[in-house]
This record gives sequence, structure tokens and C-alpha cells, in this order.
Amino acid sequence: LIENRSINGISCLVTIGKPGRDQIGVAHEIGSTVKDLGQAAGANVACNFNFADTVTGTPIGMLQADGKVVNQDNDRTRGRLSIYQDTAGKLHMGIPPINAVWSVQGVPPLLMGSRSVYEQYKATTPADVYNGTNYRTAAGIRSDGQLVIVRTISKVTLQQLADIMLILGCWEALNGDGGGSTYMWPEDNGWGRKMGSAITIKRGEDKDMDKRFLIAIDDGHGIETAGKRTPTLPDGTVMRENEFNRRVAHLLAEHLMRCGLEILLVSPLDVDTPLKVRTDTANKAKADLYISIHANASGSGGFNSARGIETYHYPGSTKGKKAAEVIHKHLIGGTKLPDRGVKSQDFHVLRETSMPAVLVECAFMTNLEDAKLLLTDAYREECAEELARGICEYFGVVYVDENIEPVKELPLIGDTVKVLINDQEIADGYIIEGRAYIPVRAAGDALGMEVGWDPETKIASLKGGK
Ligand SMILES: [Zn+2]
Repeated sequence: LIENRSINGISCLVTIGKPGRDQIGVAHEIGSTVKDLGQAAGANVACNFNFADTVTGTPIGMLQADGKVVNQDNDRTRGRLSIYQDTAGKLHMGIPPINAVWSVQGVPPLLMGSRSVYEQYKATTPADVYNGTNYRTAAGIRSDGQLVIVRTISKVTLQQLADIMLILGCWEALNGDGGGSTYMWPEDNGWGRKMGSAITIKRGEDKDMDKRFLIAIDDGHGIETAGKRTPTLPDGTVMRENEFNRRVAHLLAEHLMRCGLEILLVSPLDVDTPLKVRTDTANKAKADLYISIHANASGSGGFNSARGIETYHYPGSTKGKKAAEVIHKHLIGGTKLPDRGVKSQDFHVLRETSMPAVLVECAFMTNLEDAKLLLTDAYREECAEELARGICEYFGVVYVDENIEPVKELPLIGDTVKVLINDQEIADGYIIEGRAYIPVRAAGDALGMEVGWDPETKIASLKGGK
């Protein structure tokens, strides 16, 4: 259940917990080691979390287990984020609600929305953690809702740890205790510090869960890949192709997750991930579709008249062609750019992928009009939305619009109020957020008063009486 993997050349112990299949929880007992805790819980895996006073073996900071708070924050830990499971079984990173099933706390957060964020938490991160290189533990949540726990078996920086979690598909991730506290039982089976708490996984049976489609998203190039940029625009701007590609990739991932699809970023880092690594990653994960996002170029320097959108599939791939056609239809329909058609080409990412693969060229960097569009966030958002709509249509999945108005929070009606006018009961009133409201018309009528209500000005009036 624990895999020993080399990620970016760093050896790591990796384990994955699947809510709904596995029992994930927190074991705690002051003075216990992670091994003791794992064994006592009858778990298959236990890993150190929270930070701890390892002399007494007492966890530090907010810790919840079995639906109860078992350790409180102190002044230093208050405000730190946790990984927690809610009562519906879903995992989150954030400040846990009081009724969380379990929560473990760490610092700093490494990833939020697949972006490295630890630098923003410098002030609240102990300096040795922030600056040092050490053995580290991290917990993260993937787009498919699964929990990823990593214990590095060589010394890493927070940046390296964030990259590892990103490569493992985490959308969010949190750094745990490091140094001599890192311990993943049963792979680590020797001496261990007294931690007092551990995150545990008890492996369950795979039930027939609904099949969810996995979409591999490729952002084309590295940010500094030579040549992949616009000519200099009249205002002096130069856009690198990856600025467009990665933004669209990121927005697309959010749309797809909202629509219930799983996503795999095959090139999550800034560097130019080799094409073989991209396609190997997608093949290994058995993705259902591969989408490669690009902006086009033509000519030999400078701007020219070629513009519009073209979409590619592998020659002879029936499924690839169908996916390309559906996605292209949405891109053209939404962007209204010139339609250069669906084409086939022997590109590496189309040839070496074992699932239908589509490469989109979303406009020309070498056309001034197109380049100006590629620079805007509005156009990037448009492309991402159309790609998501096309992918959803291809898989027969309902596209969930992000602009659907959320239900406004209803006022809390506490209780009804019995209203007596001259000892006669009239229509009920209500207590709304602590204040009692009574029906003015019924009250006025009972008192023989003239009752007025103007819906325009929203004025209620009572006249007459004593
Ligand atoms: Zn490209």
C-alpha cells in the first residue's frame, strides 16, 4: 500500500487513501509513536501528523478524531490550515469545522488550486522549516478527492516538496512535521519519535464506484521554451506561448472538476516537460482523453495575416477525430474566430498516447489581432470554457455552468410566535435571527385599524385606533 517512488529524482514513500473505499482517520494517544498508533488502530498505513512535542509525545495544534476535537490550537498554531474530512466524507484543506470527522494540522500550505503557495505563508512558518532542507511529510488532496500522503526519504526544500505533490496530482497540499519526525509505518519500522498522533488509513474493498473520466491536460511548452512567443507587439509586449497555454489549462481543469471529471496535469511545472514524460504520464494513469493546448505561429518572424483556430487529431484515429470535431465546434462557436478546420497530423502527443488525443491551436501568436486576444484573460477564459463544453459533450457529461446563481442563504427562522390581540389569537408571528416579527395586517384588523401596504415603497402603515 506504500509505494517507494522516485519523483524528480527524490525518493519518496507515497500512499493514497480513497474516501468511500478506505477508512481514513486520526489515531492519538499521548506518548505513542506512529508505529504504536498504526498498530493499535489496526490500520494499514500510519504517518506522522500533526507537529508534536516529541519529548512527551503530545500533538501540537488543532487535532480532531472521531468527530471530536482532541487537541486545541495554541496562540502559535491558531489560524494554521488543516486537512480534514467533512461529515459527507469529502476531504478539504482549510480551517476545519467543529464537526469535522477528523483533521490534521500543518504549516505551510504547499499548494492551493495546483499553485505553489508556501511563500505566502513565510511569516507563520517556523524559519527552520521555511529555509531548511530536510526529510518532510506532506498530505494533499487530488482532483478526484483522494488523499495523498508523502514521506520523503531524502532531504528536500518546501519548493521540491510542493513540486512532488503537484506531480502526484494534488490540487491542494499541506506540509507536516519534518526531520526526525517523518515516519510512515509500516515501511518505516524501526525507532520512531513519540508523536502522540498520526493519520491512518485502513484499506477497504473497491466497490463498484461510478466511472469518472480522467482528462490529461498538457500545457504545450515550458514558460521559457525558445521561440515559443509572439513577435513584439506595437506596445512593446511579448507574450510567451505558455503564458496562454498554462492559464487555459488551469481554467479548464477547474471547469472539468466542477463538471465531475477527473484531471491529470501532465506538465504541471514551469520547465518544459519532455513530450515523452507527458504522454507516459497520461498512459500510466490510463487517462480517457488527452488535450494539448497551444497557440499557433506561422511565417518566419513578424506578424502576418494567418489567423484563426485549428484542431488536430492523429491520422486514422476515429475517436480522436470525433473528440477533435466536438471540441473544435465549441471553440469556433464560442470564440467566433476564423475556422481553419479539424486536421490530422503525426504529432508526438497524438501518436504516443494510448487514449484519444486532441491538440488545439487556439489562435495565431503571429497575427496581431489574434495576439491581442491571446493576451486577454477574457479570451483565455472563453477558450477554457469552450474546451470544457466540448470535452463534456464528447463524454456525454452535463456541463455545469459556473454562473448558476447559488441559492441565497435563507434567514434563520427560529420559531413561531403566538400573537394575542385583546386575548384573541391571530395569525402566528416568527422569530427570525433572534427578533420577533408579528403579522401587521392581522394585528391591525384585530384592532379595527386601517392597514396599508405599498409594495413600491415597502411601507406598511396602521391608521385609526385609539
Ligand atoms: Zn505550441
